[in-house]
Amino acid sequence: MERESLGMDVVFVGAGPANLSGALHLSRLIAQHNEAVAKGEREASSLGEVQIGVIEKGASVGAHILSGAVMDPKGLAELVPDFVEQGAPLESPVLEDHFLYLTRRRAIRSPITPPPLKNHGYYIVSLNRLTVWLGEKCEAAGVNIFPEFPGAEVLYDGDDRVIGVRTGDKGVDKEGKQKTNFEPGIDLLAKITVLGEGVRGSLTKKLIRRLGLDEGCEPQVYSLGVKELWELPDDRYPAGRVTHTLGFPSDPWTYGGGWIYGMQNRILNLGYVTGLDYRDPLIDPHAEFQRFKTHPFVSKLLTGARMIRYGAKAIAAGGWHAMPRMYADGVLIVGDSAGFLNAARLKGIHSAIKSGMLAAETIFESLVTEDYSAAKLQSYETRVRDSWITPELRRYRNFHAGFRHGRWLGMANAGLQYLTGGRAWGIIDRDQQEPGNEAMRKLSAYGYNGDGASQRYQDLRFDNQLTFNKVTDVYHAAVAHDEDQPAHLHVLDTNICATRCAEEYGNPCQRFCPAAVYEMVDAGTPTSGVPGRQLQINFSNCVHCKTCDIMDPYQIINWVTPEGGGGPDYKGM
Ligand SMILES: Cc1cc2nc3c(=O)[nH]c(=O)nc-3n(C[C@H](O)[C@H](O)[C@H](O)COP(=O)(O)OP(=O)(O)OC[C@H]3O[C@@H](n4cnc5c(N)ncnc54)[C@H](O)[C@@H]3O)c2cc1C
Repeated sequence: MERESLGMDVVFVGAGPANLSGALHLSRLIAQHNEAVAKGEREASSLGEVQIGVIEKGASVGAHILSGAVMDPKGLAELVPDFVEQGAPLESPVLEDHFLYLTRRRAIRSPITPPPLKNHGYYIVSLNRLTVWLGEKCEAAGVNIFPEFPGAEVLYDGDDRVIGVRTGDKGVDKEGKQKTNFEPGIDLLAKITVLGEGVRGSLTKKLIRRLGLDEGCEPQVYSLGVKELWELPDDRYPAGRVTHTLGFPSDPWTYGGGWIYGMQNRILNLGYVTGLDYRDPLIDPHAEFQRFKTHPFVSKLLTGARMIRYGAKAIAAGGWHAMPRMYADGVLIVGDSAGFLNAARLKGIHSAIKSGMLAAETIFESLVTEDYSAAKLQSYETRVRDSWITPELRRYRNFHAGFRHGRWLGMANAGLQYLTGGRAWGIIDRDQQEPGNEAMRKLSAYGYNGDGASQRYQDLRFDNQLTFNKVTDVYHAAVAHDEDQPAHLHVLDTNICATRCAEEYGNPCQRFCPAAVYEMVDAGTPTSGVPGRQLQINFSNCVHCKTCDIMDPYQIINWVTPEGGGGPDYKGM
């Protein structure tokens, strides 16, 4: 097939805060340089017009951005020092911090807020809105942004140097045939490609494997955040109040916690995080969140209120020890794709912004010296190590791993680490680190009989007022995919589903997916007379959270980008 090639200088894959910050900072560095050269203040050649492109799989910038979010403004203040005056969309400064331990019936307020969860001086934001704002700044600075353009493949030369990215084809039907509106993807050729795809990037995953960038690292571990926005009937929960919870509904062996943030216009933002290294195969992170809302403290807040938005997304929680090498010939990795998130603080926006800026400084130097080799780009890691990111991440480097030993040892470890700058205190045994999906035990280990979720969630009902099933929730994520396209969730061996997986884990994809994408359905009655089951993939429900790619126990689900523009629309999230 003939493809168009487009030559650019720098291509950023993903229009998240990391890449948009990188693109904006880079365009300014180039403009300042050219101006200084023109004035004779710098002895170097002008870089002329540098083509900077950002491609985004969502229908618009921000459409696929989902976060909490309480933002530490440190990163944004470096990128746009007068961000308040410039009208950055901030919901509210944080005015109150609450930390609660929830038992089934009671909410016990801790007299002290754990230091990582102190948010004084920070802002509650809709990251979707903030990203749109950053996108506008980029465009004003001359950066070309292409929404509806998923990066489908990294392009390499014969020596495994990254030379750009191929965007996804458009107009392919579900049988894989070209429709009348078929448009082949474009080869965007670039001197440097920056992967800022967020958590579990589909291109980043392949790049890391191909080039062995995770050699010597701990396996990355993840959590899943499930979130709703509610419209309150009165001022019962003011903008600027932040509540974090621990305890109910998670069991002591499952990492989890809730958040409740007050936004403007009586919007309540609440969600629940479940560690994607849980053991019980019947755990369903969406159900955990629904149960969270049934706690008297939470349900009282929601009485008479209306749910208006829904979303879910994975979080890279492995921290410092799980960060891969972030550079290779012609490529850099930024933000959540490289694991910059601080799981103890549930914060990654500030470090995503900073990592984008450090990548921009590295790229600028490469453009000046015309050297795009790994040896040159290595200075990105040096910049990261010399920045405030490193002490912050090192201080919490053993945070998530401590919770492998249950909630109480995890918390003890977190407290000790805080005091000692991140030491593990023997609670962590590095040899036992495993990818989260390997932590899942079989149904038999729990004595479950089949995959009936009611065995774990006996008291959970979906009443459509306080609690919602996945399909209703997905409707509130405004998800849209053209259904006449190949499924973008590739299950490499579906024979396992009805046999081994059904028996061993009870098809956990039906539960860990927060969007009802995976369903085991009746396959009709074969001649044997025994009714069979088969996997049905409702890919049009997919909210791009990446949980299936992460959590499948056999690692046979491969998430790839669907046709450009498909997916959720996280307006205001
Ligand atoms: C539930 C939840 C709660 C959180 N709470 C907080 C919080 O309170 N405070 C905080 O600081 N942080 C929080 N975080 C973390 C924070 O949101 C992330 O650290 C931050 O968004 C990372 O930015 P990023 O640019 O690396 O990636 P993202 O924000 O994920 O952006 C990546 C972008 O790349 C696009 N993309 C991905 N793959 C491709 C591709 N192949 N081609 C084209 N485009 C692609 C995506 O559509 C997306 O627009 C939270 C995260 C979650 C999920």
